[in-house]
Amino acid sequence: MKKHLIAGGAALIFIILLIISGYFIIDANRDKTPDNIDIQEEIPESDSVNETDEESDEETDEETGYVLSQEQSGHDDTNVYDSFASDENDENDDNEEDEDDSEANDQIDSEPEFTKVAYLTFDDGPTREVTPGILDLLSEEGITATFFVISRIDVEDIYKRIIDEGHEIGNHSFSHNFRRLYSSGIDAFITDTLRMHDFLYETFGYTAKSYRFPGGSMSWRSNTISDRNEVLEELGYKHFDWHVDSGDANSSLPDHSAERLTNNVLNNVNDRDHVIILMHDYKWRQTTLDALPAIIAGLREMGYRFDVIENYPG
Ligand SMILES: [Zn+2]
Repeated sequence: MKKHLIAGGAALIFIILLIISGYFIIDANRDKTPDNIDIQEEIPESDSVNETDEESDEETDEETGYVLSQEQSGHDDTNVYDSFASDENDENDDNEEDEDDSEANDQIDSEPEFTKVAYLTFDDGPTREVTPGILDLLSEEGITATFFVISRIDVEDIYKRIIDEGHEIGNHSFSHNFRRLYSSGIDAFITDTLRMHDFLYETFGYTAKSYRFPGGSMSWRSNTISDRNEVLEELGYKHFDWHVDSGDANSSLPDHSAERLTNNVLNNVNDRDHVIILMHDYKWRQTTLDALPAIIAGLREMGYRFDVIENYPG
């Protein structure tokens, strides 16, 4: 009887084992259903395989008998892959862009750092003969400058062009008349200054903020200048002389060739962090314009960028 029980128990255990192993076999097959097949194994790697995929879209599922729609047929999976692939491509693109960026940065790093600033200033214009050429060049170079203008007739369009192209207009007096400005009392100076100020504001809506004394402040007695500077400050002006004279208005020079003017500037910059350069857009001084490309190139080589004078620090 005991033997029968043992044999029966062994048979029961055997049967249980059979059932369990059968379950595992079924379960293992279940793992091989198409849903669980690794997406990437079925992923087409080329367009020609995509055609196969499209064909399968129309295949009938043998098990269910349903015609698989594109969405059901695993096309989604393909889309997943496609999007993965495009992500990967995007990533590659990103990497390429990153590389491009780093190359660009390297290029920037290898160029001189433009920590120094040059302020090109043109006095006594505008003139139809020279100022437009200067503006053309500044535009080509992508830089801005300051024009200390006086009152000139029939050049309204050029004042306007200076403003429209992002340059600064400074007040250089209405008359440029030394006697009126410096020997006729402070009222004459105020009247002259306001006349130019109002002309710019009323004609172009432009408020000038920078002033340059005709002849330069150093040419006149210090108390004459200090009185006038007080007036300028009350009117909201800041006055600027210059560090480097191109010499284009210097009558004592033996010549005013473009080469001489260029050398006058580049040889006297002296590596200042902020350097103000004096030039003129006189109608009879074409060589100022002729010298300008070499002056700009030379300053760039020295590590200068360019700005308008109202941004001069201090
Ligand atoms: Zn002047």
